[in-house]
Amino acid sequence: MFDKILIANRGEIALRVLRACKELGVATVAVHSTADADAMHVRLADESVCIGPPPSKDSYLNIPALLAACEITGADAVHPGYGFLSENARFAEILAEHNLQFIGPKAEHIRLMGDKIEAKKTAKRLGIPVVPGSDGGVGPDDDAMGIAKAIGFPVLVKAASGGGGRGMKVAQTPDDLLLALSTASNEAKSAFGDASVYLEKYLQKPRHIEIQVLGDGRGGAIHLGERDCSLQRRHQKVWEEGPSPVLTAAARAKIGATCAKAMQDMKYLGVGTIEFLFEEGEFYFIEMNTRIQVEHPVTEMITDIDLVLEQIRIAAGGELPATQDEVAIIGHAIECRVNAENPQTFRPSPGRITQYHPPGGLGVRIDSAVYQGYVIPPYYDSLVGKLIVHGKTRAECLMRLRRALDEMVVEGIETTLPLFRALVREPGIIDGDYHIHWLEQYLAGEAAN
Ligand code: ADP
Repeated sequence: MFDKILIANRGEIALRVLRACKELGVATVAVHSTADADAMHVRLADESVCIGPPPSKDSYLNIPALLAACEITGADAVHPGYGFLSENARFAEILAEHNLQFIGPKAEHIRLMGDKIEAKKTAKRLGIPVVPGSDGGVGPDDDAMGIAKAIGFPVLVKAASGGGGRGMKVAQTPDDLLLALSTASNEAKSAFGDASVYLEKYLQKPRHIEIQVLGDGRGGAIHLGERDCSLQRRHQKVWEEGPSPVLTAAARAKIGATCAKAMQDMKYLGVGTIEFLFEEGEFYFIEMNTRIQVEHPVTEMITDIDLVLEQIRIAAGGELPATQDEVAIIGHAIECRVNAENPQTFRPSPGRITQYHPPGGLGVRIDSAVYQGYVIPPYYDSLVGKLIVHGKTRAECLMRLRRALDEMVVEGIETTLPLFRALVREPGIIDGDYHIHWLEQYLAGEAAN
């Protein structure tokens, strides 16, 4: 096991990693920007180092400052959390060059899956079903119209380096294609420094279902079931649950086994998520995330496996926590991402939290780094915290979630709590009958169906 882990992140995920380290008896180093000097992860860590001014590029993305922090504190491993440098293959390599362990997959796998065109090719080769689309990138010399017509309209233009729902444009008809190609490509160039795009069939009413995997890097790998993340706004997840309300145990076992086999073949190391769209009983791979995800607690609640702790153990050369047969899905869990945003306009609402009362009771979990008096800075994401609720059945889970949401108090800033309080009483949600466009239709006041 490592002696000292530097946590290269902030907010709730930094605290989440810190908790796992404490349980493992590993010393912790928090890093922070000047804006985060009063943050909870800084207060609770054994040591802390200021790594720069508020902008992420000068602090949480500042590799030389992070290396210096490792050097000063004598950390022997780095946990990147999610976002920031978590999917930066070069960062993993630089750490290795300095004899520091990156707690995550091998750099080659991060790089491979970071390029969505290559990821799709790899998935196909490993026997994972993919969304019909162009075989690779679509450049100026390619017959984009011919490819799009062969796929069939509507088509989606996607950025090879895309993430966070950016660099995606739908072409409903052939007339829209040229504009969609140039807009997506320009957006991708400015956001990711890579203009390459590819085409995919635009699925009409799919669900987003993702499989959690865990590999030991030596050819052992298991899956831990799925999370249904279909409730999205601007392609960003808002509510996640597991198991999916529409998946049978047989379908889960089948897609799960396909994913686990692919990870065994790759000799994948650590936690990963294979994301699919699911329509009319068929799975279509869209991408793989090579890091811990925001919604990982859903899986933890229904499998009773601590993903962050296992991630650290595996990075230190440990074994998988269970065989596939030992993994059982127990009950149902739902996560709500409570953001500091206006619940109607979604405009960020940073500022001081004047009153804070997190809910409690059986089956209720809060992953958050805020406290009464804490000031949410304007520089980073607007997550206040994740409310995760578990129940024996989906109905019991919804019952508890309704109660927990009513109990939770966050004052002084606007939050999306009112949205969740409404959603948890919506017939479409109660029935589990929703798809990736449901939430936007609901927010637009349209009958969502
Ligand atoms: P990102 O990396 O930007 O999050 P993803 O490829 O994971 O992009 O897609 C994000 C979301 O965009 C999906 O969950 C889904 O809602 C939508 N999406 C992606 N591909 C398609 C597609 N082919 N058809 C319809 N919706 C899609």
